[in-house]
Amino acid sequence: MRYISTRGLAPSLGFSDAVATGLAPDGGLYLPETLPQFTAADLEGFAPLSYPELCFEFMSRFATDIPPETLRALIAKSYTTFSHADIAPVVKLDERTYVLELFHGPTLAFKDFALQLLGNLYGNQCAVRGQTINVLGATSGDTGAAAIHGLLGKPGTAIFIVYPDGRTSPLQERQMACTGASNVHALAITGTFDDAQAALKELFADQEFRTRHRLSAVNSINLARILAQCVYYLWAYLRLPAGVRDEIEFVVPTGNFGNVLAGWLLQKMGVPLRGFRVATNQNDILHRLFTTGDYRVGAVAPSLAPSMDIQVSSNFERFLYYSVGQNPAKVREIMETFKTTGAYTFEGFNRDTFTASRCTDAEIPGIIRQVYQDFGYVADPHTACGFKALAKDRPSIVLATASPAKFPDTIVSAIGIEPKHPSLEVLKARPLVKHLMPADAAALRAYLDAHAV
Ligand SMILES: *Cc1c(COP(=O)(O)O)cnc(C)c1O
Repeated sequence: MRYISTRGLAPSLGFSDAVATGLAPDGGLYLPETLPQFTAADLEGFAPLSYPELCFEFMSRFATDIPPETLRALIAKSYTTFSHADIAPVVKLDERTYVLELFHGPTLAFKDFALQLLGNLYGNQCAVRGQTINVLGATSGDTGAAAIHGLLGKPGTAIFIVYPDGRTSPLQERQMACTGASNVHALAITGTFDDAQAALKELFADQEFRTRHRLSAVNSINLARILAQCVYYLWAYLRLPAGVRDEIEFVVPTGNFGNVLAGWLLQKMGVPLRGFRVATNQNDILHRLFTTGDYRVGAVAPSLAPSMDIQVSSNFERFLYYSVGQNPAKVREIMETFKTTGAYTFEGFNRDTFTASRCTDAEIPGIIRQVYQDFGYVADPHTACGFKALAKDRPSIVLATASPAKFPDTIVSAIGIEPKHPSLEVLKARPLVKHLMPADAAALRAYLDAHAV
């Protein structure tokens, strides 16, 4: 399988190269040249598989440059770090309401599904090519923690995560800075997330520096992340009762459109998922798009569901590529307009598959309380955005993207109970090792020169 750029001006790559490259040199995002199709017979054959086995069956159609037995072993290893036997349990709340729990990985958020696998893919690449790799990323919280736990202690790799000091949640910071692993570098800058990103951008733009350190980015547009996320939709579909699975709406708390894009791609591969609800917080660029067709940059307002606080949905371009009939020239034109004017109006795209909702900070605690009263279920603030206005005319499955234990303050204010998780309690007792530095590229460059592998 080859991978092409949404903007059509970059050479196609094999799976491992597309994963290592991240953003295509023409500024586009990689997608499979063709999407495999899963038949009803395939799905029947998949039903008895364990999560790692199912993941292997799925990924083997895409990672065609990795020997199958190697891929199988990498996948098996990636999900041994999850604490639930089902990996992604489907919980039934009532006849028409289900939850897909995606928070049983090491950092208690859904990003572990992709980043545990990505870490092992990077580790494998180091071993195969006999090279080291330095992974660099900026984070406002969950991505950094999940990326660090994907690479923790892996020979030949080092990971540098830059975050705004004092602006991630204390538990998120502990997940990044209390690992004790010598290949992990938690870099706290005096500045905002945007300052962190600007410094990173400057380093990635320096080809010489980038090549010398074999730098790789960790961000939400990586191809492997999207593909790994398709698997839990397939898994959930197969676990749902026969009468429900073809009718159910997948309700997806999202910001960068990464999570919901994965489900939609799976639908394009022939798996009969009925539809998706794009559930945003008050940073609602996607809600506005799917209700009015208007795609317009807004200012970010920090919210109680911080992992969805985004200005622009970076993965939207992949959806756009298909929406305009796989026409890279059209994608370039639209992205150019969007870049210069900060807005684009879509006309007549198919709204049958998607609905949308937005949830303000004022609403989140009330929803957490209501879900607790109705079902005895504790939803984290991101998941709570999904529980807003569940469909009356069809069953719903809400993707629970984080454990409530990661956001104790909001949960306590909503229901008066402090959620706890053993892995977070352990972290509270560990020493915190972070490196404070100014928010500029020179400081970051000097740090990498001294610590890169
Ligand atoms: C990252 C994240 C999201 C949003 O994911 P997208 O890639 O923007 O769809 C939602 N919830 C949690 C807890 C997250 O960490």
